[in-house]
Amino acid sequence: MTLVEEFTGVRVRAPGKINVFLEVGALQADGYHELATAFQAVSLFEDVVVTASDDFTLAVTGTVDTSGVPEDDRNLALRAAKLLAAETGYDGGVHIDIRKEVPVAGGMGGGSADAAAVLVACDALWGTGLSSRQLHALAARLGADVPFALKGGTAIGTGRGDDLKPALARGRFEWVIVPNPEGLSTPSVYGELDRHREQHPVDIPAAPETPDVDADVLHALRAGDARMLAAALRNDLQAAALRLRPDLAEVLEFGEANGALAGLVSGSGPSLAFLAESAEDARGLQQTLERAGHEAIHVHGPVHGARIV
Ligand code: ATP
Repeated sequence: MTLVEEFTGVRVRAPGKINVFLEVGALQADGYHELATAFQAVSLFEDVVVTASDDFTLAVTGTVDTSGVPEDDRNLALRAAKLLAAETGYDGGVHIDIRKEVPVAGGMGGGSADAAAVLVACDALWGTGLSSRQLHALAARLGADVPFALKGGTAIGTGRGDDLKPALARGRFEWVIVPNPEGLSTPSVYGELDRHREQHPVDIPAAPETPDVDADVLHALRAGDARMLAAALRNDLQAAALRLRPDLAEVLEFGEANGALAGLVSGSGPSLAFLAESAEDARGLQQTLERAGHEAIHVHGPVHGARIV
């Protein structure tokens, strides 16, 4: 008998994301919003290990509070495995172990990263050999942010966010993330934006007919210029997230007064992302935020998408 069993699983890491720009169009008849976004994958990773099994099972741990993560069929990672099996005719199962670093319900796409990681991992474990185009198509069926988690880097997303084009981005951007112990549900934030636009059209710009990423954002990314990017950061969901969670506004102001070039709500929130000019400034800001009692994590972007390690 050997004491060390051979590892027969597949391990994949997939990143969380920040939307450095997010313009949201009007609510459509199908209940969705057309949007235009610039995603950047950042160095907070979901670590996913899959091993052969007859059934589909899941265990979730992590450096973040995982108590809000369902372990049944509502989990996007399990849904990803079952979708891949159904589409390829694979008749076995899989055990999925997820170690989360991305805050849950934080607007940073952690569940989407898990789903992307599972697609890549199970495709390798089961030998189903899908092309990246086929994986992308399955990813888009699971959720609008899943294709980006597969690709990583910096990209422009249109449609529901899943129609992706890579964006030219030079260098490395330094960010400080302030997670929040209480998540926000994405549909409630979109609902608040729709209500706000209808009831207070004077306070908030009308929904654009065809959302588009500002040229200034593309220019700043191409130049690798943090100051330029800071001036161009924008998130149409921010006003709605702040109406639901007014406490976040104070933290945004605190970060901006203490060394951040700019801060914004990440996606539907409530995680906040502060852009710093240098790694040193980011470390300083992280310490200042921690001294003021906030959890703060220094990350950088862009980083790679879901990848076997
Ligand atoms: P969204 O992709 O909707 O913007 P988010 O990035 O704000 O979401 P996630 O952590 O991805 O946040 O999850 C949002 C919700 O989805 C959670 O509250 C949880 O109920 C559910 N969920 C399903 N699968 C997962 C998963 N693998 N990890 C985390 N949450 C999951």
